[in-house]
Amino acid sequence: MIIVLKPNATKADADELLELIESAGLKPLYMPGVERTVLGAIGDERLLGKIHIESHPLVEKVTPILTSFKMVSRELQRQDTVVDLGGAKIGGGNFTVIAGPCAVEAEEIMLATANAVKKSGAHGIRGGAYKPRSSPYSFQGLGLEGLKILNNVSNQTGLPAVTEVVEAGDVAQVEKYAHAFQIGARNMQNFRLLQAVGQSRKPVILKRGMAATADDLLMSAEYIVSEGNGNVILCERGIRTFETATRNTLDLNAIPYLKEKTHLPVVVDPSHGTGVRDYVAPMAKAAAACGADGLLIEVHANPKIAMSDGYQSLYPEQFDKLMDELALVVEAIGKKMT
Ligand code: PEP
Ligand code: MN
Repeated sequence: MIIVLKPNATKADADELLELIESAGLKPLYMPGVERTVLGAIGDERLLGKIHIESHPLVEKVTPILTSFKMVSRELQRQDTVVDLGGAKIGGGNFTVIAGPCAVEAEEIMLATANAVKKSGAHGIRGGAYKPRSSPYSFQGLGLEGLKILNNVSNQTGLPAVTEVVEAGDVAQVEKYAHAFQIGARNMQNFRLLQAVGQSRKPVILKRGMAATADDLLMSAEYIVSEGNGNVILCERGIRTFETATRNTLDLNAIPYLKEKTHLPVVVDPSHGTGVRDYVAPMAKAAAACGADGLLIEVHANPKIAMSDGYQSLYPEQFDKLMDELALVVEAIGKKMT
């Protein structure tokens, strides 16, 4: 429920109403604006009937939030959320690029990749230490050692680091070494994990499940935000369709849809979205053109020897060229590469 207060309502009036909302068993939200203060009441909206908030003398208007996701909804918050990823801003007119290998493999190669993407203008690095692989016989990641490598490389380059967390019990450990959590496609509906990262205040890049709708993605984001962590970035990374020519079908329709429905930033991963190195750059530019707030891209200093996803990883030279081309698209749509 969105509760708009009358212009003469003071902060003390708002506090009184917030207490009332809480006493009814709803989560109160305080959103002061330039002209009006807006309050939110999140939860079972029937409970609001108990306190007759609509007839309060300082309440101008009470409107229900029609979508099933509430806190992430643009109905609740009109302006874009801008997430601070270790100094790199995501959302609100910025275009932010996070690049790096699929997995952290060794310090030397991680550092070489990070230095290369930094030179080309990337704003952050990625690399998985815990890899959720389809086969139990594939490389599963270096675990804690991988986190330490990623952290060292982040410190040496000054680039904030993003890495995947695959279970709730690892959240505290991953949080120590990375600037942001990645929740992978396979875990988009692992609700205990979503709640665990929701307890943190570090940014979360939430990837869309491969058989999840855009609304499912928004409901999963709601799990994180409703725990108190508003620093969520949504990521379209391709879905399973009848099309087998590419690894996944990158659903760029989801970008304008999500941008309309939510105030959260939305980024695109064209690497998993296509699964083909040569298709990554065209889809990255398309993503920028259709309104994405940034990209998550796999780049490897030497993709031929990559331990996972080498076939979809860009060579540093390809990434460098892509960044130059992206700059033109980003400028054309009126965003800025921070
Ligand atoms: C990854 O980013 O390397 C990854 C495993 O992504 P996804 O969860 O989208 O498959
Ligand atoms: Mn990968």
